[in-house]
Amino acid sequence: MPKLNENYLNLKQSYLFSEIAHRVAAYQEKNPDKPVIRLGIGDVTRPIGKKVIEKLHEGVDALGAAETFKGYGPEQGYEFLRNAVVDYYAENGVSIDAGEVFISDGAKSDTGNITDLFAQDNVILIPDPVYPVYVDTNLMNGRNITYIDANADNNFLPMPDKNVHADIIYICSPNNPTGAAYNKEQLREWVDYALANDAILLYDSAYECFITDETLPRSIYAIEGAKKCAIEFCSLSKTAGFTGTRCGYTIVPKDLKFMSSTGVEMSLNAMWNRRQTTKFNGVSYIVQKGAAEVFSKEGMAECRENIAYYQENARIIASTMEKKGVRYFGGINSPYVWFECPMGMESWEFFDYMLEKIQVVGTPGAGFGENGKYFFRLTAFGTKENTIEAMKRFESLF
Ligand SMILES: *Cc1c(COP(=O)(O)O)cnc(C)c1O
Repeated sequence: MPKLNENYLNLKQSYLFSEIAHRVAAYQEKNPDKPVIRLGIGDVTRPIGKKVIEKLHEGVDALGAAETFKGYGPEQGYEFLRNAVVDYYAENGVSIDAGEVFISDGAKSDTGNITDLFAQDNVILIPDPVYPVYVDTNLMNGRNITYIDANADNNFLPMPDKNVHADIIYICSPNNPTGAAYNKEQLREWVDYALANDAILLYDSAYECFITDETLPRSIYAIEGAKKCAIEFCSLSKTAGFTGTRCGYTIVPKDLKFMSSTGVEMSLNAMWNRRQTTKFNGVSYIVQKGAAEVFSKEGMAECRENIAYYQENARIIASTMEKKGVRYFGGINSPYVWFECPMGMESWEFFDYMLEKIQVVGTPGAGFGENGKYFFRLTAFGTKENTIEAMKRFESLF
């Protein structure tokens, strides 16, 4: 009999989205004539832009002719895409080297797989509430997690405690689920803390494209010293509607070097390269052709149109919260609006209340951690018409 990885027994049943689906289905069965609006989804809905689609087609055609056929590509991604990422960073004033860019099938895989590079006995800091992948991938490996509180008192932007040592710190900014985004000074504090502790920041910037405030950094490498203490994960999922197409990129600076217990210097860039060449065979040529077009002038202009569409939805949701005097976070620099449940309700109670009274579905904050118990997430990824109608109903709710 195989002995199993019993760390899986320590995972909390991830019942969030199935429980939501179950409650909505039960309601609809009893009330078939009441149209339900879903603002709970964390997936994009706008189609991929025409230019990018053209390049995806070109990629397909290349595979059908002997002269242009592609088999296995480089595990790290094609040079043309790695260079496109380098140029994208340069436009935002950040200089990275193509050898530090690793193309992948998405930020979820990479934020999970990065655990391969670290030993068991690290002090790992993860904010609560949080994107569940960071927590579950560490639990699967049998690691202990130290949670740091994100709450209304710190605007859901927890800061380092200089009296507590950590080795690995997860940061997601702009944040899912709270929509909160760190400013430059706050990130500088985290970088300084990481440098002082010889720690590493695992920085998820999947929502950087939603940043409109020019003073907010769109990359951790906008902070001096970050290349000595941070890995950055990003993705074309939210930027370009690639949630189903699958493409992301991870930056592992060559300056990230730490001593082994035996005094050997180890490079995280070299380790990640080894990890990827051993366990990963690259993203399809077709997808990389399309992805490179995202970073072209015209391709990015198309993406910005879709992002602007979602940003308008976020603005509509946020302005409704203002009007109703509901305390909320996000909505700017983020597709998420995270608000305090009215009337002191708990998040699941408020979920049922909204479903029953106005047939609007969102995501209970409790699903993202203890500190989400009295909060609720609405997303801007619906249609504008549905967002307006949902907010009209919300205004009449209480
Ligand atoms: C959507 C999302 C991602 C992107 O994941 P992909 O695997 O690239 O689709 C990464 N991090 C967070 C926090 C997200 O919400």
